[in-house]
Amino acid sequence: MAKPKVTTTSMCGCFGCHMSILDIDDRILKLVELIEFDKSPINDIKKFTGRCAVGLLEGSCCNEENVHVLQDFREHCDILISVGDCAIDGGVPAVRNGIPLKECLDEAFVNPRRGPAVHNEAGTIPDDPEIPLLLDKVYPVHEVVKIDYFLPGCPPPADTLFAALLALLTDQPVELPYELIKYD
Ligand code: SF4
Repeated sequence: MAKPKVTTTSMCGCFGCHMSILDIDDRILKLVELIEFDKSPINDIKKFTGRCAVGLLEGSCCNEENVHVLQDFREHCDILISVGDCAIDGGVPAVRNGIPLKECLDEAFVNPRRGPAVHNEAGTIPDDPEIPLLLDKVYPVHEVVKIDYFLPGCPPPADTLFAALLALLTDQPVELPYELIKYD
C-alpha cells in the first residue's frame, strides 16, 4: 500500500524549523516507515508528485511567490500545519510591518541611513521580473490559506514536531502533553 506523503516548504524563514524536523534524529527511520517525503528542501524534490497527507509550512508570507506556494500547498495537501512563529504570527520578518515598504526599500538600496547596505552604484531598487514582488506587509500564513494545525516555537522542538506528525499519520488526535507545548 502506498505510504502517505509529507511535504515541506520554507518561505520567509531561516530554515531553523527544518533543522528541527531533522533534529528528530533516528526517529526519522520510524517516520519513513510511515511516510514518504514529497516536494521538500529536505530531498530537493521541486514539484508535487501527487496528493500529500500533510504539508509543513515554515516561514511567513512576504512576497507574491509565497502566496502562490501557499495556494499550491493548500491545493495539494489534506492537512496544512503552520510550523513556527514566523508562519504563525509573522515572526522576525514581520518587524518590517511597522515601516512603509517604500521606506524599507529606500533604506536597503537607495539611501541607507542606519548602517551598512548593499553595494548599489545605480542607486535603484531592483525590479528584475525574476524577483518576486514584496507584499505590502508580512502576513502569517493563516491569513492567506486555511491552516489546520499550529505548532508554535522558534523553532518548535523536534519532539513536538515528531509527536504531532506521528499522531496525524496514525489517525490519532493531536493532543500534545503540556511539556511539548510550553515555552519557558
Ligand atoms: S520560527 Fe524561528 S526557527 Fe522557524 S523560521 Fe522563523 S526564525 Fe527560523
